[in-house]
Amino acid sequence: MGTCRICKKKAPEISSLLSVCGRCIRENFSKVKEFLEEIHIGIKKEEGISLKKQRESRLRCELCINNCCLQEGEISFCGLRKVEKNKLVGPNRNFASLEFYFDPLPTNCVASFCCAATGCGYPQFSYTSGDELGYKNLAVFFNGCSFNCLFCQNYHYRKRLQFNNLVSVDDLLEAIDSKTSCVCFFGGEPSCQIEFTIEFSRRAIEVRKNRILRICWETNGSFNPKFNEEILNILLESGGTIKFDLKFFSPELNLALCGKSNKQSYDNFSFFARNFYRRKNPPLVCVSTPIVSGYTDEREVEEIAQFVSQFDRSIPYSLLGFWPCFYLKDLPPTSKELMYTCYHKAKKFLDNVNIGNKHLLT
Ligand code: SF4
Ligand code: SF4
Ligand code: SF4
Ligand SMILES: [Zn+2]
Repeated sequence: MGTCRICKKKAPEISSLLSVCGRCIRENFSKVKEFLEEIHIGIKKEEGISLKKQRESRLRCELCINNCCLQEGEISFCGLRKVEKNKLVGPNRNFASLEFYFDPLPTNCVASFCCAATGCGYPQFSYTSGDELGYKNLAVFFNGCSFNCLFCQNYHYRKRLQFNNLVSVDDLLEAIDSKTSCVCFFGGEPSCQIEFTIEFSRRAIEVRKNRILRICWETNGSFNPKFNEEILNILLESGGTIKFDLKFFSPELNLALCGKSNKQSYDNFSFFARNFYRRKNPPLVCVSTPIVSGYTDEREVEEIAQFVSQFDRSIPYSLLGFWPCFYLKDLPPTSKELMYTCYHKAKKFLDNVNIGNKHLLT
């Protein structure tokens, strides 16, 4: 139970850490901006990462929205790179900080209600005309992230960050066998190791030649837009789906709860949405939004759905149940009532709306 420092409302849906309600963040952002920034600076500081103003330095990384500019001894925002003896060390095009495992299909992938693993890509992109039973998904979890979401459900990656002992493209290629029909890049966030995802994809497609191997990304969309064309080609060639997790429509809510702007996420999403017509089935792109109690309301969902619908009403959209964790442990899980209100708002604009993580709803 928290109290909003602006409107003085008290409610279980107000995080005690944020101590400001969703409505006041949207409508009175200038009054809380600095306070909210301090929260994110404090969290990163505990992880040994300083968010001091970036200075000019020749050692920069431009893979994601953060455009880190580092000096000797400093660690990047994602926690994956640092400067050692005047060199930027950490993952690169050939080596990544990741974990991988197999999930039998059908799996609980964000797009599993609409993707090729349902059989909708048969025969070009699916092995079977129904669920691909007997086949599996190679799940590739990338450690590190470009955002700092207070509600992160996968925050454990923060303990697994490493600059050495990285996994090579060859190691990951070796894992693919004849029953692997898709690869999912998720995390954490693949944006911070996007070059590796592209290098691996290219080589995996080459190795598999004429057999189906779909390549999919699950992302907050914060990667450098210079990679858009290459990702698009891999998706079109392989039958994969890029899944954009658009967390908030309001830039203020995104800054408050994720610590970062959502502009690049929407710009990158727009690029893929403009290309959606090139392959609707299985869908080239889909969208998801976690419904964070007290902060993601029907207005947010309606605005996201309306934004997505300007490209195509049939772009799939999944609303995800939220379970309290990380820094928002004191919020209640998503209620059925809120979820269904959001669902009906989204349905006004989009034809294919799904509710994910139904088991979490209360
Ligand atoms: S990795 Fe892609 S094809 Fe496989 S289950 Fe997930 S969304 Fe579907
Ligand atoms: S973008 Fe995803 S992985 Fe990154 S902090 Fe947010 S919820 Fe966690
Ligand atoms: S990927 Fe990491 S190091 Fe590179 S710009 Fe983004 S946060 Fe900084
Ligand atoms: Zn308020």
